[in-house]
Amino acid sequence: MSTDRQPVLGILGGGQLARMLALAAAPLGVNTLVVDTSAEACAGQVAPLLVANWTDYEALQRFAEKVDVVTFDFENVPAETAHWLAERVKVFPAPRALAVAQDRLAEKNLFHECGLQTPAFVAVDTREELDQAIAAIGVPAILKTRRLGYDGKGQFRLAQPADADAAWAALGTQAAAHGLVLEAFVSFDRELSVLAVRGRDGDFRTWPLTGNWHTDGVLAMSLAPAPDSESLQGRAAALARTLAEHLDYVGVFALELFVKGDELLGNEMAPRVHNSGHWTIEGARTSQFENHVRAVLGLPLGDTGARGPSAMFNWIGELPDRAAVLAATDAHWHDYGKASRPGRKVGHATICASDTVVLHERLAALAATLGRTPQAQPVLAALKD
Ligand code: AMP
Repeated sequence: MSTDRQPVLGILGGGQLARMLALAAAPLGVNTLVVDTSAEACAGQVAPLLVANWTDYEALQRFAEKVDVVTFDFENVPAETAHWLAERVKVFPAPRALAVAQDRLAEKNLFHECGLQTPAFVAVDTREELDQAIAAIGVPAILKTRRLGYDGKGQFRLAQPADADAAWAALGTQAAAHGLVLEAFVSFDRELSVLAVRGRDGDFRTWPLTGNWHTDGVLAMSLAPAPDSESLQGRAAALARTLAEHLDYVGVFALELFVKGDELLGNEMAPRVHNSGHWTIEGARTSQFENHVRAVLGLPLGDTGARGPSAMFNWIGELPDRAAVLAATDAHWHDYGKASRPGRKVGHATICASDTVVLHERLAALAATLGRTPQAQPVLAALKD
């Protein structure tokens, strides 16, 4: 426990989420200490970094002694590590919430308990069970690892029953260690996420719903507030609240939803700040990062209202021309300080405006300058509707 006047927030995982948490913590007078298994972790460029494995309990002991509260930048910290730390220091969200979100099957069961429907699914542990699941659910379907999947990794899409062999060749080796789940493929109308925050005192708030567009399972763009989502906001927020109260959740989380007609289906819950909430840094009265820091430290939560509409571009693999973004009006550049690598999230930009007409103009102009018009097309179309 720190004896300094300024509290210290410990963050497990040192990626861009930890980096943006540390940047949001500083003006609140909150210091941060990040743990990551790699000395290259990009949060280490803005906050002190302790390099340690998740089972290095000597290093974790030193970490626990230096921090007041522990939180996560990524949910795949081993559950035992989270439990071990929770015996020594306050950990938010609690390890139980983390454990549910680490397991797609537990997560889907929780959604059902809380009144949130999901795509049809069946647990699959053997090759025979895969055939049975295909017979039960039909095709198209997606085979996913129960654990450790993210950004479309650990997934295989089956267009026909004969794809079972290829799916098993791709993921069968993970069945024993992590378990698999076969999900019906949903031809959804759109994808939305609810970003929510719950304080230590139970205060609960949501930001306006965010519309999301993925490419190959990786978030490409977000738009907030999602157009024509006012009628869904109340239902989505109520579901998120039920989940949060059920888990006695503290901090920010994202609930990813598929919208099909009037139906809301739960895809997954991220027990942390989330990529689809990056727009809140400039586009909301209080960012997801600041409210997460406030929540886990027991401080009053800030207003989650949008200042106006915003669109976010994810930079995947490599950064585009920084000067072009900086030259655009109300466009905000975020470089995570990571080396370029195919498929890796290396930064993002958020474009804000006072109304959707101006946002459309700014986004179209910037996308054309950057040669990113195809990436922006669905968002431009949603803004025009
Ligand atoms: P996930 O890692 O489960 O969030 O999946 C990444 C993305 O793949 C989602 O945001 C969707 O765009 C797509 N996806 C995942 N599961 C399904 C599904 N059952 N039906 C249709 N698309 C899906």
